[in-house]
Amino acid sequence: MIDIFIFSHMKKILLLLLLPILAKSQQNDTAFIKKIADEMLQNGQAYQLLHYLTKNIGGRLAGSSQYNQAVQWSYETLKKFNSDTVFLQECLVPHWIRGHGDAAFLINKNESNTKKPLSMTAIGNSLGSQNVITAPLLFIENFDDLEKKKEAVKGKIVYYNAAFNPTNIRTFKSYSETAKYRVYGPSHAAKYGAIGVVVRSLSEATNNFPHTGTLVYNDSFPTIPAICIGIEDADYIAANAKTGNWFISLKTHGKMLPDTINHNVIAELKGTEFPNEYITIGGHLDSWDICEGAHDDGAGVVQTMEILRTFKALGYQPKHTIRFVLFANEENGTRGGLKYAALAKDNNEKHIFALESDAGGFTPRGFGFTMSAEKIAAIQPWLFLLNPYGTEFLELGGGGADIGPLYKNFGTPIAGFIPDSQRYFDIHHAANDTFEKVNKRELLLGAVNMAALVYLVDKYGL
Ligand SMILES: [Zn+2]
Repeated sequence: MIDIFIFSHMKKILLLLLLPILAKSQQNDTAFIKKIADEMLQNGQAYQLLHYLTKNIGGRLAGSSQYNQAVQWSYETLKKFNSDTVFLQECLVPHWIRGHGDAAFLINKNESNTKKPLSMTAIGNSLGSQNVITAPLLFIENFDDLEKKKEAVKGKIVYYNAAFNPTNIRTFKSYSETAKYRVYGPSHAAKYGAIGVVVRSLSEATNNFPHTGTLVYNDSFPTIPAICIGIEDADYIAANAKTGNWFISLKTHGKMLPDTINHNVIAELKGTEFPNEYITIGGHLDSWDICEGAHDDGAGVVQTMEILRTFKALGYQPKHTIRFVLFANEENGTRGGLKYAALAKDNNEKHIFALESDAGGFTPRGFGFTMSAEKIAAIQPWLFLLNPYGTEFLELGGGGADIGPLYKNFGTPIAGFIPDSQRYFDIHHAANDTFEKVNKRELLLGAVNMAALVYLVDKYGL
């Protein structure tokens, strides 16, 4: 009896002794995160950096001269921000070029061949038709529909009309449900003898910009030309051309050149206690050629650079080494992310956490993590610290294409920054992904939340 009494009494005393320390540490965290936010919101340079990247360099697909310009510019800027080291990491990337003069028309054979020009873009990594090809349109809702109609595919141009499901509140869910038609649809159709493929853009936009992206050919089947068309044209086809005597004619000029050398750009802040343990923050430096790549992923690039600038400006000395990584070739190969993880393995590096921003520069909402449910539960108290800046949840599921290989190689916990997603697919991979679509405060607030999360992981671990 007495023993239990003493024990519980001691526990109380211990807790009373610890409480001020715990409270103090939380006060310190609150104060430091406020410092991060104040520095970024008052002196942040992310928006100006984004202006340079989008307007002076512009679209920067793997293998392009613009990509190399972006490497040069970001390398020099990260040096100016006084990172402890900045270095380039070489990787071989696919070198796809679009060519010039692509076009497509919808032809109504019942109405004396009325020709409607389609707002189109060739799908990335697709090989061009070179000459004009014209064939009957075969309207396809989804892959089940393709199976049902497989006998009718030969010699046709297949049109995939899979639309975003508007009831998904998270628009990335709609994207993940429909991306397969752009990525694998061309080879699925070629398997049954199609000579070309047209895909409804992966978007819910209320305009007619076509959205590109990558495809993956299955080498067992002919590498047929493939394009995406704008949503207004897609709706027109859905309303008029499901039945009747409709043709499509198209001409594309895509070409795959031999692989070429690009670089990841990496800056480091050396850890004071665990210099050989790494935290990675990043975005991808490449973008599609038809746009400025402002939200995708200029935003992630300049947020990453901004966090380095701010940590330096505040004199922050991390316990672990923090790597700020601008990845090469996310869009049509993910070779930059693969190379980063492969070298980490070769060099026996210990990676404790990686965070990527590749969902646009919109208002922060939360973070999605790929790690154990126990770890997710353990960090929920951080919400209290992050919530004043916009983070509403720390949830299971998330990461990024460039940091996925770290999880695969090492089981490193990874996270993706999740901003509001309602407008992302209006501009994603389309010519209207421009600087003007990015709001300065939203962009900076994203960087604030990312920096705060990295600070907490560096201090407490996962
Ligand atoms: Zn991206």
